[in-house]
Formats: sequence, structure tokens, C-alpha cells
Amino acid sequence: AVPEINKIATIKGEQISNIGSQEMNDEIWLKLANRVSELLTKNDVDGVVIVHGTDTMEETAYFLSLVVKSKKPIVLVGAMRNADSMSADGPLNIFNAVSVAADKNAREKGALVVMNDEIHAAREVTKTNTTNVATFASPNSGKIGTVNYGVVNFYMAPLRKHTVASEFNIKDFKSLPRVDIIYAHPQDVGDFVETAVQKGAKGIIVAGVGNGNLYPDLQAALAKASEAGVIVVRSSRTGSGSTSVSSEVDDAKLGFLTADNLNPQKARVLLMLALSKTSDKAKIQSFFATH
Ligand code: ASP
Repeated sequence: AVPEINKIATIKGEQISNIGSQEMNDEIWLKLANRVSELLTKNDVDGVVIVHGTDTMEETAYFLSLVVKSKKPIVLVGAMRNADSMSADGPLNIFNAVSVAADKNAREKGALVVMNDEIHAAREVTKTNTTNVATFASPNSGKIGTVNYGVVNFYMAPLRKHTVASEFNIKDFKSLPRVDIIYAHPQDVGDFVETAVQKGAKGIIVAGVGNGNLYPDLQAALAKASEAGVIVVRSSRTGSGSTSVSSEVDDAKLGFLTADNLNPQKARVLLMLALSKTSDKAKIQSFFATH
């Protein structure tokens, strides 16, 4: 039988934007987070489902999870196949997303991504495949639940600070600082770091090789940027694992911070929020250890 969404929830829809998620920008993030916050304060709203392109869904989910002050479910959903393609995945994904948002066990878990019968926590989830419907995964921790034709089961809950426990509140943000990501490789150069600094980046996330390691020229350019007051955070291009403090790179000497086990694009979101509050390195590092 075809499941009916109206049997599980009363839905009121609205459109914030109709861009592809590759066009996502700070302005729409702020607008979306403000609207979600506003909606979740209403007594007749039990949760929010956001239909979002899959390319940058992970960043939007983490952003919302960090700035929206609500215990109610925030669920992001999308599709890997077009509505008119064979075996389109959108309709069932949306049914499952609404089922999760309507489930009382989805409360107090921050923003969630529901795709392909799986429930993922905002901080952990990432897009791992260009085209496969099973693209979303949480490499460091695994999914936190499943949803099968609307039957919701949770097995884990995210422990890092989010929503009501997060140090960030959408009310405090009118704009976000520029934070760039630089992707490391053999025979690397410092040019992109210099350009980022010249163009006004307040923070740089470096997607280092292995455990956040860096080619000497890149490392020197980043150390110079750090000395000039730009916050440099080492992350990894490997896709999982924690970037350890001062394992092969002398962070204390070079002035670098590390991203814990956030991937570069998630680290960028947290650093943008952190830099809006403080430029104190110890404080920013503590955000990476707790959020
Ligand atoms: N490029 C599209 C987007 O992220 C892909 C999708 O819709 O999933 O908006």
C-alpha cells in the first residue's frame, strides 16, 4: 500500500529558496535558521522537515544543529534521483522524514538527516558518493537510527553539544565571517593561503593529508597566516578519524588548532560560528572539543 503522509502529520509547507544546494550561501543559512527557530516556538508545530539538495545538506544540518534553540525535531531530506527518473527515491525519503519528525523519540537529537531508510546526526553525517542512493553515512560513529516505511527506530543519540546546549544562538548572528578550506597535496604551495588572507579570510581550515599533515611550503604559509591573526584549523582529507593535536605537526609552535573528528566542511561551519564570538584560540579549540 502507498503510505499517506497525511495520516502521520498535518503538514504546512513553505519555500525559503529554490536554489540547488551547490548555491547555498550565508544569507540563506541565516534566513533558514531564523525561520526554523520561529516555527519551532509555535505550539502547533511539532517539528520541521526541510527538503534540501544533497550536495551541501550536511553543512546546513550542522549549522542548524548549532544555532537553533529547540528540542523539537529538525529533519533534512532530499533525493539522489530526479522525480521523473526510474526508482526515484524522493517520495519515500520524504514520507520517512515526516515520520521521523513526527516521532517523539526524534526530540533532543539536534538536526537529523533522513535518507535511504537511515537516520543520521547532523554533526556526523556526510555525503560519501556522487550518485548512489546510499550516499549518506556517518563515518566516525554510524547512523543513529533507521526508518522503514515510516517505522522509526533509534539506537543512539548524539552527545556533542547541539541546539539548546550549544553555545551558539541564531539570534546573535547577522552575518558570518569568511572561512576558506584549503586542500592539501604533495608538492603543495602557500599561494592559496596568501590569497585567502589577502581576500579577508578570518579563518582557514586545512584539509591536511593523513592526520592533518602538511607539505612544508603550505605549513610555512599557514604559520605566517596564523601569526597575522588568522585562525588556522587542521583537519583531514581522509574522510574519518580525529586530527590529533601535535602528533606530527607542532601545533603549539605554529599556532594551529585542530578539528577533532570534524571533516573540513563541518569544521568550516563551526569555525565561522566560533569566530563570530571570539578570536581566543583556547576558547575556539574548546568549541571543537565539545560541539
Ligand atoms: N546538486 C543538487 C543539490 O544539491 C543535487 C541534489 O538535489 O541532491 O541541490
